[in-house]
Amino acid sequence: MTESEAAGHVAGKPIPRADENSAGYWAAAREHRLAIQHCPACELLIHTPVGTCPGCDNTDLRYQNVSGRGTLYSFAVIHDASAPAFANMLPYIVGVIELEEQDRLFMIANILDTPIDSVKIGMPMEVTFENLTPDCELPQFRPAHVDAIGV
Ligand SMILES: [Zn+2]
Repeated sequence: MTESEAAGHVAGKPIPRADENSAGYWAAAREHRLAIQHCPACELLIHTPVGTCPGCDNTDLRYQNVSGRGTLYSFAVIHDASAPAFANMLPYIVGVIELEEQDRLFMIANILDTPIDSVKIGMPMEVTFENLTPDCELPQFRPAHVDAIGV
């Protein structure tokens, strides 16, 4: 770990830190699995991680692997870097992805491997993992089947 990583940044970008609610999410991501909190009492899938189910107030939440597939619900093209470390990414796309396992189960992530003029609301998406550090894989999204068509 470099000094910058110890301070919570890599190449000027913040490194996500797991807490007691999100530890399962980040542990799964390290293994290139997308896992979402699940309430065994009311069967709700929950994201972002919380300590109490918003559906039934259960505090015994678990993590469940999901497919990593969804559709692009909305997006924004970012033209101004919020920090200098993001300047070399410009322009880039931040998307809201609705996961296929549950209506209105949203994730916000960068959309990778996508020309900006080809992004369309409703397009099928799949999770991919951006390696930030040896201990941190960041779930991001890209158009589904991007490898299969050789793009
Ligand atoms: Zn619940």
